[in-house]
Amino acid sequence: MDCLFCKIIKKEIPAKTVYEDDNVLAFEDINPQAPVHILVIPKKHISTSLDIKDEDNELIGQMVQAANVIAKERGIAERGFRTVMNCNKEAGQTVFHIHLHLFGGRAMNWPPG
Ligand code: AMP
Ligand code: ZN
Repeated sequence: MDCLFCKIIKKEIPAKTVYEDDNVLAFEDINPQAPVHILVIPKKHISTSLDIKDEDNELIGQMVQAANVIAKERGIAERGFRTVMNCNKEAGQTVFHIHLHLFGGRAMNWPPG
């Protein structure tokens, strides 16, 4: 399958890994939009959030927990941070392997752009 993030999981494309366990990988976004901008992905290929099945619920929880661990490590947990999962075109999804953006290190705007 021609998926950029599956290639990162298989180490065919390099990434700056910040967290890894059996089910989840997290790495620095190549085009950071905040002082902390990390992508948390499942090792299982899931194209969009609409493709998450009941059997994936624990995996999605593991992604959120990984983001929490990283936020604490980076010292942004108490200050605050934002997690975002874009779905399809109008949300701006460009890589069709689900990923949780973890943004922090600056004040976030609301409403989002
Ligand atoms: P989205 O627009 O929500 O699909 O987010 C895709 C994200 O992947 C963007 O923030 C990109 O900067 C990021 N990205 C694209 N290619 C790479 C890569 N090779 N390594 C790390 N991040 C990437
Ligand atoms: Zn994939």
